[in-house]
Amino acid sequence: MPYIKVALDVPLPKVFDYSCAEAAPHHVGLRVRVPFGAKQAVGVIMAVTDAPTIDPSKVRPAREILSDLAPLPEDLLELLRFVSDYYHHPIGEVVLAALPTRYRSGTTRRTVATVAISSDGSAALRAGLDRSPVAAAMLAMLESRGPLGERELAELPPAQRRALRRLVARGFARLVAHTASPVAAPASMPPTLTAEQSAFVAGFSESADRFRTWLLHGITGSGKTEVYLAVMARVVAASRQVLLLVPEIGLTPQLEATLRARFPACPLVTLHSSLAASQRADNWAAAQRGAARIVVGTRSAVFAPLPRLGLIVVDEEHDVSYKQNEGVRYSARDLAIWRARQRDVPIILGSATPSLESYAAASGGRYTLARLTQRPNAATLPTVKLVSTAALRIEGGVAPAMLAAIEDRVARREQVLVFINRRGYAPVLLCYACGWAPVCPRCAAHTVLHRTRTLMLCHHCGREEAVPASCTQCGNADLQPVGFGTQRIEATIRSALPAARLLRVDRDTTRTREAWPRMRQAIVQREVDVLVGTQLLSKGHDFEGVSLVCVLNADRSLYSTDFRASEQLFAQLLQVSGRAGRGALPGEVLIQTAFASHPLYAAVCAHDYDAFARMLFEERRLAGLPPFVYQALLRAEAPRSHRALDFLAHAAGLAAPLAAGVSVYDPAPAAMPRLQGRERAQLLVQSQSRTALHRFLDRWCLALWDAKTTRARWVLDVDPLEI
Ligand code: ADP
Ligand code: ZN
Ligand code: ZN
Repeated sequence: MPYIKVALDVPLPKVFDYSCAEAAPHHVGLRVRVPFGAKQAVGVIMAVTDAPTIDPSKVRPAREILSDLAPLPEDLLELLRFVSDYYHHPIGEVVLAALPTRYRSGTTRRTVATVAISSDGSAALRAGLDRSPVAAAMLAMLESRGPLGERELAELPPAQRRALRRLVARGFARLVAHTASPVAAPASMPPTLTAEQSAFVAGFSESADRFRTWLLHGITGSGKTEVYLAVMARVVAASRQVLLLVPEIGLTPQLEATLRARFPACPLVTLHSSLAASQRADNWAAAQRGAARIVVGTRSAVFAPLPRLGLIVVDEEHDVSYKQNEGVRYSARDLAIWRARQRDVPIILGSATPSLESYAAASGGRYTLARLTQRPNAATLPTVKLVSTAALRIEGGVAPAMLAAIEDRVARREQVLVFINRRGYAPVLLCYACGWAPVCPRCAAHTVLHRTRTLMLCHHCGREEAVPASCTQCGNADLQPVGFGTQRIEATIRSALPAARLLRVDRDTTRTREAWPRMRQAIVQREVDVLVGTQLLSKGHDFEGVSLVCVLNADRSLYSTDFRASEQLFAQLLQVSGRAGRGALPGEVLIQTAFASHPLYAAVCAHDYDAFARMLFEERRLAGLPPFVYQALLRAEAPRSHRALDFLAHAAGLAAPLAAGVSVYDPAPAAMPRLQGRERAQLLVQSQSRTALHRFLDRWCLALWDAKTTRARWVLDVDPLEI
């Protein structure tokens, strides 16, 4: 009797044995429905064996092997096993999380995006072959109206849906994964590459068939995208697949349009969380069949099966969104490199501000460094200046010099982008009489005053409360907003420049799917003079009319307790500066600061990534921080009564005898010590040797899994980005 080992979505570090009479070795990677406790579950077959690990009399039979999806290929299973080992996360959760949600359940109903009439169907319709009036009517509808999309299918009455299913079964209609077919886009021609761009493409082409990690360090606007397109063209022409990872979905529509225009005949799919579940499943399946030649996706697309993989590109490789921050906390960038090595294909990491980890790897020769130091067409980088507020009292959050500069640009009919990394009106509403300010009862955070919908909002858990009329401590009715968010800055600029047309772009104004494309349109058509926005605006957007970028509130990250804050601030400032002067107009950037002599700002003004990276590097070396050491963070959370800190103290006790070559720090409250009513704490371990760290983590995790003494939830965060 064959047995199968099944990965199930449960937080236990093991696979589960089932008997399965029909199981054969080629079933590895297929989904299977099994009994689990009193319920049923869907898992993935990881192995087929002759003997179970546990007592055969205790093994239950599997219900059904699901074959609506081709098996996950062995290389993907190997990647998932690596993820489970490296991040010390239960294999079942890793495997199931890698699947599109549709496939995590047992729906054997094939996910259909579109149904179209087939040529047999057209012939049958003409010949009047179908005697069922419903079926004939369906065929006629498909013929006259064209393919039916998902929404229309869902709205069909049951009788028509049944008829449609019969038509599909008889070959009169067919299922079309609409996203895998090329969408008509006006073709665009590549520009003549600059000398630097061609040099990269030539160098890359010399070893394009082998694993190699390229770090493409190109200043903003230097044409990294063109370089990706040029090397992708070669891969696609060789009928192989390209995986292009991008940080955020806000970028994809624009990039997708560019790609479709450049590769009009090439099937392209996207993979990201704002796709409808069925579409995502279809796109994933198209990648797995090898039909999709270009796969553009966010972090989780690193788990897409790609049988014909020829190249991986990670755009904006420094972006923190590549790190998953719940469940299995993987780094998509690091896994992309692992995958490129596994498949022996090249990988390009692109950035204007590479992460220090990548910078170190390139300096040490592990990655091949390539640079783009110029913008094409002799375009220049914007001039960056500081607006010092050290001696000023600023009324509405914007320095007078900055307001004057904005006014000047608006008068010249140029556009201005005002960047402030905080939404809402004011981050705190304060009673000056006694110091009281409203806080979220569930989180360790002040609630934020919002004015467009008048309320106090917790930005951590989304809880809404009415704006208090007076102080709950002393009764003082004069509560004052403190600090600035996008809404308040918008109000300041509106009152200073009443004639200017303002647009605020933050999470509150871009909630609906259509909002951002509409705003984008308005910006491009110059219906807007001043854009006030959060980091949503900082990345990748190319607005030709923007000649001035104003940055507010950058100081907040200068003296943060998080040692990565300044690296991220620098990247963000360079990124947002890159938004100025993308068109024919020379760009200018103004940064409002109370610390005008800070070396970080000097480096930003000089556009000098290298100087800044060297400085950070030296700081990290002296302080013994990554990339000079390797870290892992044990994160725990619990309701107040089962203190997370107690659990961590116990965990530290378990660690002590195992920690050869590893430093175990004291448990400490997390940066957000309370979130949604749960206490959060963390325990840092670090080592100068990655091997020593992982040897320790292996043994420590075994001990932690055995320690069932607490009801705290815990998760290990290997190579954490936020500490
Ligand atoms: P990056 O991604 O490095 O910030 P982009 O790839 O967005 O830069 O390129 C910046 C601008 O320069 C784009 O408008 C792009 O079309 C243009 N561009 C890139 N390469 C060339 C080239 N070789 N000739 C002319 N224009 C180019
Ligand atoms: Zn008070
Ligand atoms: Zn809250």
